[in-house]
Amino acid sequence: MRRPTALFLGTLAALGFAPHAAPARSPLLHVFAQFPSAGLAQPPCFPTPNTKLFDDETEGYAAQTRTNPAYGMPGWSRSQGGRFHKGVDILPVEFERTERTVKIEYYDPKTSRSFSKNEPVCIPHDEIYAVLDGTVVVVNARSERSGYGRYVMIEHRFDDGTPFLSMYAHLSRVEVKEGRSVRRGDRLGIMGQTSSQPGGRRYLSAIPHCHFEVGRVIDENFASTRAARALRPPMLGGKYDPRNIQPYDPIRFLREFRAQPRSSLVLTKAASPQPREP
Ligand SMILES: [Zn+2]
Repeated sequence: MRRPTALFLGTLAALGFAPHAAPARSPLLHVFAQFPSAGLAQPPCFPTPNTKLFDDETEGYAAQTRTNPAYGMPGWSRSQGGRFHKGVDILPVEFERTERTVKIEYYDPKTSRSFSKNEPVCIPHDEIYAVLDGTVVVVNARSERSGYGRYVMIEHRFDDGTPFLSMYAHLSRVEVKEGRSVRRGDRLGIMGQTSSQPGGRRYLSAIPHCHFEVGRVIDENFASTRAARALRPPMLGGKYDPRNIQPYDPIRFLREFRAQPRSSLVLTKAASPQPREP
């Protein structure tokens, strides 16, 4: 058998077949899925007490940095458009500014200059709520196992039965167990600043937030694939591993399905579901 030439291997690599390289990542990780036309039987609850998400405005809702106003937004919002963010980083409404500071490195695309700044450490206290009725499919209680830190993932269904997931990350405390059913608006835990990554923890110290994601499983058989078993850090949650979840745009999810503040849900809990938006 002929040995593959360097040119041949180079061509393979360009096509995405890299021998002995890390498992290929699904392109679907970087494309927002379309919502099924059936929609939802009920409007979702906002995942935190922050309800400052308006039709034409996300300031006060999504996290920003000194140099990146889109930092907390879903999409290609990171590293000058070079890195995809699957969720929205929701700002706390209740937090405490400590005397401590943390050094944050910034890159200013306007001046092409890097600089660092000591920012005050802020501790968030917001409660985290289930957006809809569902089943808790993953609780990661050990923050060192994931860049998402401590997190909860819940499986819900669209009105046509299509399953989908919501995820609440970087929590300080998780108050639900895997396998349990939850109701819309149930408390899942408390916002926090947990992550396995030191860089992530530094940003979270200065800009606390809840990373909220909505998505769907890409490959139902993911857990038994060679790619999944080769993952580093190791697979977490089987097919519900975040590296097997295609995102929906979480801002569109909250806007188009008319998310409600939890306080108004409690008052209307016994009422029949609200009519679906066309
Ligand atoms: Zn995030």
